[in-house]
Amino acid sequence: MTDSRNITVLGAGVSGLTTAIVLAEKGYQVKIITKELPKNTTSAVAAAIWFPYEAFPENKVSTWSYHSFREFEQLSQIEGTGVSFIPFTTYLDSTVRPWWLDALPETHILEEKVKSPVNPAHVGYKLKVPLIETPIYLPYLWNRFKAAGGEVIQKEIKQVSGFEADKIIVNCTGLGSGSLFKDELLYPIQGQVVKVEPSSNIKAMATEYPMGKDGDEIAYVIPRQDCIVLGGSAKKNRSATTPDSGLTDRIISYCADFQPAIKSLNIRESIVGLRPGRPEIRVEKDPNLPVIHNYGHGGAGFTVSWGCAREVLKIL
Ligand SMILES: Cc1cc2nc3c(=O)[nH]c(=O)nc-3n(C[C@H](O)[C@H](O)[C@H](O)COP(=O)(O)OP(=O)(O)OC[C@H]3O[C@@H](n4cnc5c(N)ncnc54)[C@H](O)[C@@H]3O)c2cc1C
Repeated sequence: MTDSRNITVLGAGVSGLTTAIVLAEKGYQVKIITKELPKNTTSAVAAAIWFPYEAFPENKVSTWSYHSFREFEQLSQIEGTGVSFIPFTTYLDSTVRPWWLDALPETHILEEKVKSPVNPAHVGYKLKVPLIETPIYLPYLWNRFKAAGGEVIQKEIKQVSGFEADKIIVNCTGLGSGSLFKDELLYPIQGQVVKVEPSSNIKAMATEYPMGKDGDEIAYVIPRQDCIVLGGSAKKNRSATTPDSGLTDRIISYCADFQPAIKSLNIRESIVGLRPGRPEIRVEKDPNLPVIHNYGHGGAGFTVSWGCAREVLKIL
């Protein structure tokens, strides 16, 4: 018989921590087993902002993003979560209404048809979205999980054959699911960011059209309390984690085209993270194992986090 009140969550990135909180706060006895602590995960590389990017399918991502948006609204009212709402302008190279606008309450679309200062043919939307400052938010999630009675064990799981049929496992291992569960649909999306010193005059923005010679670079600026995160890139099937100095220069140049003051800010560091790309986010019961999966969130792990965690609860 399945021990339905005891759950093991694999992974302590944003997906693992959020799922573990939702389950622990529902009264389950939850243990996290993770190879890396939150500060060493892909989740710690993200800026992060609420924005459905490189995550599929659109209809589910839209629903999960909306639910997370509502949760972030609540969290922004609580001191110490690292969640706040900021104006954010995204520039497109098309006038077609983007699908992800439906995930955003109408009141948070502040302005439409905003002209790009770089190319007047590009228009954008000024939105009001959640900023999730990861150096504050991940420790907040960790503490909230512990306060709900959760336990954490740091250990790498090497194979699934040892999973006992009477224990429920929730798999939130991100890119680690590729080798652990032999998922060939999972692929890395390499993303480089440059952190520069904070400055009050710099505004949050992003481009949503391809840049760079291979069309896999973008410009984004996310001002936080500790630094400004400049991006970026989304290079599919690249798994190197060493920053490319040429790309660092291009990122600064792309961002400074929009906000020239960026050029004079001191660089702190360049870092690379590997987004867990997948044709579809996998939130479902494994057909052969006592496992519920929650991984493959691409560039939107924070954006869909609360929606996906609730989906796991529903499956349970
Ligand atoms: C540059 C960059 C910018 C981004 N910006 C944003 C943004 O603005 N907004 C947004 O929503 N998203 C953003 N993302 C995407 C987001 O970071 C990811 O979707 C998210 O971090 C995925 O979280 P996760 O918890 O599923 O995976 P991870 O954070 O990778 O965590 C996986 C966990 O599983 C553990 N694990 C793996 N294998 C094993 C194993 N065998 N045994 C035990 N434990 C294991 C790891 O140690 C880790 O704890 C960005 C990503 C990058 C790289």
